[in-house]
Amino acid sequence: LRANFSIIQKETGFVNGLIAVLHDITEQEKIDAERREFVANVSHELRTPLTTMRSYLEALAEGAWKDQEIAPQFLNVTQTETERMIRLVNDLLQLSKMDSKDYRLNKDWVNFNDFYQRIIDRFEMGRSQSVTFKTKLPNELLYVEIDTDKMTQVLDNIISNALKYSPEGGQLRFKVEKNEKEGEIVISVSDQGVGIPRENLKNIFERFYRVDKARARKLGGTGLGLAISKEMITAHGGRIWASSIEGKGTTVYFTLPYDSTNEDEWS
Ligand code: ADP
Repeated sequence: LRANFSIIQKETGFVNGLIAVLHDITEQEKIDAERREFVANVSHELRTPLTTMRSYLEALAEGAWKDQEIAPQFLNVTQTETERMIRLVNDLLQLSKMDSKDYRLNKDWVNFNDFYQRIIDRFEMGRSQSVTFKTKLPNELLYVEIDTDKMTQVLDNIISNALKYSPEGGQLRFKVEKNEKEGEIVISVSDQGVGIPRENLKNIFERFYRVDKARARKLGGTGLGLAISKEMITAHGGRIWASSIEGKGTTVYFTLPYDSTNEDEWS
């Protein structure tokens, strides 16, 4: 808040009034600062893979292309970096679409348990590590009105993080619980991975925030996955948060409003 003061003085010299004009500039300044930071982050995130690619391409052009062993390795690096940039640009497009005013969800009523189970199965089939899966879903129909494409993206982000940060032989736990009082379901994904320090927990949903930048980058992340998930969950009228113990594991939770009156019609 910025205040401009004008003192009203009579010829006698006595102050008999004060005019204060208050401008609410903080909100606008905050938005401007955030925008500047965002552009700086985007530029940095794009420059990193580009400079890597440039040095590998230079080396190839200077003769490494003739080396049968090195050439494929260098090409592989440029490919990985290109893929990272594509992911980043796709995430940025997604965010800018969500920021626009005419952003709409394409909602359908679905039984959340079936929907969730299908996504879990897909990850279980495709996983390469020795990670085990444990699922606990309520034994009843839970109808929620969701944009299934967006919700799939949210769960893909959360589950792939859980896998990425899991140790060999770790367990992933998937849970859905009904909170009848609040009229919502609470969905959670737990891992037994590296965990997140308490002071960083609330930041992980910010754009480009990473606890360990080097590690996150090595694992191919864009730093936007959870920020996108948060926007999507908020658009669905839900909340998202995480709890974690360092070295023990992380749980990401989110809620979705569920309509109990709808239940009877479907059962
Ligand atoms: P990224 O693309 O880097 O994974 P996200 O937005 O998905 O970006 O996550 C932000 C950061 O939160 C990650 O870089 C990582 O530091 C941390 N994080 C997210 N999920 C987990 C998890 N399951 N275990 C440990 N750290 C996590």
